[in-house]
Amino acid sequence: MKGYAMLKIGESGWIEKDAPQCGPLDAICKPLAVAICTSDIHTLWEGALGERHNMILGHECCAEVTAVGSLVRDFKPGDRVLVPAITPDWNSLEAQAGYSMHSGGMLAGWKFSNFKDGVFAEYFHVNDADGNLAQLPAKINVVDACMLSDMVPTGFHGVELADVQFGDIVLVIGIGPVGLMSVAAAALRGAAEIIAVGTRPNCIAAAKEYGATRFISYKDGTIEEQVLALTNGKGVDKIVIAGGGVDTFDAAIKSLKPGGKIGNVNYLGSGSYVNIPRVEWGVGMGHKQINGGLMPGGRLRMEKLGALVAAGRLDVSLLSSHVFAGWNHLEEALFLMRDKPADLIKPVVKL
Ligand code: NDP
Ligand code: ZN
Repeated sequence: MKGYAMLKIGESGWIEKDAPQCGPLDAICKPLAVAICTSDIHTLWEGALGERHNMILGHECCAEVTAVGSLVRDFKPGDRVLVPAITPDWNSLEAQAGYSMHSGGMLAGWKFSNFKDGVFAEYFHVNDADGNLAQLPAKINVVDACMLSDMVPTGFHGVELADVQFGDIVLVIGIGPVGLMSVAAAALRGAAEIIAVGTRPNCIAAAKEYGATRFISYKDGTIEEQVLALTNGKGVDKIVIAGGGVDTFDAAIKSLKPGGKIGNVNYLGSGSYVNIPRVEWGVGMGHKQINGGLMPGGRLRMEKLGALVAAGRLDVSLLSSHVFAGWNHLEEALFLMRDKPADLIKPVVKL
């Protein structure tokens, strides 16, 4: 079969590989549509996970099941499914401890385009099919379904990690597709105000639709100065970080009230250390929490988030700014994600 692979750091292309084999608990699937993720860019061009050779890229798609193992109960060939980017081993000790995304080791629940071949291929393999796949609701089209692989669960997880509550003033740093879903989730959780940080005009327009009430640009001075100016010097209750880099934590701590919480879902692709400003961290005693996490995967979460979209409570269609048709556009879509033109939110390829 054909797959689009990372040949080595900085180089990618189409390769031929054997089609994946199906174990007793597994499924083999064929993508119906795939989306490119900023994480693919960190992995391929920044080498953020380290070297990978001939590894098929991609972890965002929806798909049709083509084969299932003898022990799979709830899925059969022909089913159309939602596929989470993170596919844990549900019988692992880490999953039993509540951290399925780290089943088998840190970040090891993230298998596609990390520890095994991803979804930019004619066929791909899903471990623990009953635990990880979800039926694709008939009301959700294949382009929107791709947003449920990663953008919705990651953006929503940022809001869970920041523990957003009714009436909170929330700062969302980064309003690419992930941060936009954090804005939407903060609004669903009852935030009173949502301050969004970003510059791309269509991301700002989408953030308004999702419930952002104020906007600041990280290009117009420091984030903390602008946040403190907007909040009478008090800072915000909660912060979701979905963009920036290692230095963004400094700005976040300085923008946060004592007792505030930061939820980071940004993939720190470069830099060795995250520096915490000593004084603004309350000289170690400010009760300012930092939680960083990989999105949870799994069937239950996919079913619940899918239900939110199917019920019309969450419109993900604003995210897919560039929709292509056919595998021959995959590389173009990938390069678009790398170059991030001003009108880009998310590129999707229908198959
Ligand atoms: P985008 O690149 O589309 O968006 C990044 C956002 O951050 C943009 O709004 C951008 O602004 C803003 N930004 C850029 N530089 C800065 C800065 N210095 N300070 C503040 N804001 C800045 O990314 P995505 O939304 O696609 O993804 C966000 C991150 O989430 C990525 O690192 C991705 O790898 C990660 N991720 C993490 C997952 C997880 O499970 N934890 C899963 C999926 C993705 P501008 O408008 O100017 O472009
Ligand atoms: Zn992704």
